[in-house]
Amino acid sequence: MTDISIRIEGYAGRITLQRPAALNAMTYEMCVAIEQAFDRWAQDDAVALVVLDAEGDRAFCSGGDIAELYETGTKGDYAYGQKFWADEYRLNHKIFQYPKPVVSFLQGFTMGGGVGLGCHGSHRIVGESSQIAMPECGIGLMPDVGGTLMLALAPGRLGEYLGTTAARMDAGDAIFAGFADHFIPQTQWPDLIATLEQTGDIEKVAAAAAPPASGPLHAAMPDIDRHFHGAALGDVLTTLRAEDSDFARDTLKRMGRNSPLSMACTIEALHRLRGPSLTLEKALDLEYRFTARAMEHGDFLEGIRAAIIDKDRTPKWKYADGNVPATAVSKMLMPLGKNALKLGGTGMKIGFIGLGNMGAPMAANLVKAGHEVTGFDVANAPGDGVLEAGSAAQAATDKDIVITMLPNGTILRSVADEVIPAMRAGATLIDCSTVDVDSARAVAEQAASAGVLCVDAPVSGGIGGAAGGTLTFMAGGSTAAFATAAPLFDIMGQKAVHCGDAGAGQAAKICNNMILGATMIATCEAFALADKLGLERQKMFDVVSTSSGFSWTMNNYCPAPGVGPTSPADNGYVPGFAAELMLKDLGLSQQAAAAVDADTPMGQRALELYRQFVEEEDGQGRDFSAMLPRFETRGRS
Ligand code: NAD
Repeated sequence: MTDISIRIEGYAGRITLQRPAALNAMTYEMCVAIEQAFDRWAQDDAVALVVLDAEGDRAFCSGGDIAELYETGTKGDYAYGQKFWADEYRLNHKIFQYPKPVVSFLQGFTMGGGVGLGCHGSHRIVGESSQIAMPECGIGLMPDVGGTLMLALAPGRLGEYLGTTAARMDAGDAIFAGFADHFIPQTQWPDLIATLEQTGDIEKVAAAAAPPASGPLHAAMPDIDRHFHGAALGDVLTTLRAEDSDFARDTLKRMGRNSPLSMACTIEALHRLRGPSLTLEKALDLEYRFTARAMEHGDFLEGIRAAIIDKDRTPKWKYADGNVPATAVSKMLMPLGKNALKLGGTGMKIGFIGLGNMGAPMAANLVKAGHEVTGFDVANAPGDGVLEAGSAAQAATDKDIVITMLPNGTILRSVADEVIPAMRAGATLIDCSTVDVDSARAVAEQAASAGVLCVDAPVSGGIGGAAGGTLTFMAGGSTAAFATAAPLFDIMGQKAVHCGDAGAGQAAKICNNMILGATMIATCEAFALADKLGLERQKMFDVVSTSSGFSWTMNNYCPAPGVGPTSPADNGYVPGFAAELMLKDLGLSQQAAAAVDADTPMGQRALELYRQFVEEEDGQGRDFSAMLPRFETRGRS
């Protein structure tokens, strides 16, 4: 292949990109050849380190070669692009965790796919001409090739700025932002490469490094942080539009060229990634959710058309006014289930105890993602590729992770008595059941004394969320335990919040569900009042869902049949979320409130109403929104 030279020189595995006329853009064939070389050299004792460089002054690598993707994508063949990206991301990951030093020399442009190749190694060298950027939003993609890892780790809100504006970093800024390690004057590069080849001594790199001049982005950090701290793209645009300054004008101009959907997804992705559980695997998985959908559902084909096919530079973006609905972002970043990115060699052995309405689909999603799952339930046989164990202890033996999804704290404690002694030290117990805070803390203590990591991670999102892999996890436990569990939360859900130490996840869950129970009652009694006042239910929904009375129970789970999005009310109030489970959760909240002397009159009243509904009326086995037909038939006394 003439596009690339792969060879061994002295102690160095050497890769030189040789397409200077095409700014060294990386083709699929180049990607495959580079991965094969990395695989060979990992096993070759004669290779001490790998050196990556490129011919020509203008670019190390300006990105992936996208023309071919356009050709296949416009014919409706999305699989080619998906394979290209999956294979490219696997290479990025391989470079990141390579067992030997990887030194890259990044002159001129290093962009997009070039960042994936040049900015994941152990020693990333920049010089006077270096210009590094993540320009994906300009062609309807979002920053990928693991770039969101660096963007999420960059100081302040620099990641959001770089990702949405595609701004270029010079050497000083690239080091400041975490995309490069050392500034070395470019005239010294040939000698340094020769020394590395002759000696295989990686220490020579740091010895040659000089301090870089501070870049312009570094100086702009106060502006960047002020404008890019918002929760979503709309917030960022609003603050920029409200300010009459050169920074705001320049930034809006840059963002005006880029796909709003891509920018909104970039901001959301960085918010999800930032935090202690961040890993390259997590970043690549999230990026791939977007790229795998980008041709069919995003702006990618239109972006390439405008940039390199018709070259009119006037792409017709979706949501061109910048108002990107949150649902559009969620749809692009939803887990891919069995089509999720597989980086190879990451399958874990998981025990799963409690295969009921929630546990069974959660276990199935772990199997689809490539993990070996062994399940146990006293009543239900495992399905969907889950292996069967004869007991809870057997399901837990020799596993990396054990997950429990059980009805209550008493059952959790008895299962923990059996399971924790069977687990090996260093393994992790994740309890996803909703239980009382005391049980969660007792199990965590028991686990700690056996050398087992423990996370209490109750969920929100119901049976639909369990099946679709869109649950929210609220987790309590140590940072290390949360980091271990986080990749599995990503498979079973779309969001995980580390709430604090042991029990904090359960505390968050019961507070959330206390609000949920009270607002469902409030929503139902308001519909019943509206009926008696002669107000049409649809009109009531139209007003409240966009007024200050809006809530999840009104807008997303409307208890009135035929009104709002489809909910259990449209299916005869078959749960969904059963009234008795709501009663249980309200009981947990009042138990916790009593223990800490918190005054919770609304929660207490909600508990009494659900108790009456479940124990004395017809609420047992019905969805918790069936409070509405209850109120319909009642008067004030
Ligand atoms: P479920 O009753 O359908 O499932 C619980 C399973 O645990 C059952 O299959 C049961 O046989 C099994 N089990 C009981 N004792 C066991 C033991 N000793 N060993 C092994 N298995 C045992 O309940 P679910 O709806 O799946 O809910 C599970 C948990 O998730 C509960 O704590 C619930 O509060 C919580 N939750 C449920 C929802 C929902 O919408 N269903 C939503 C959020 C949270």
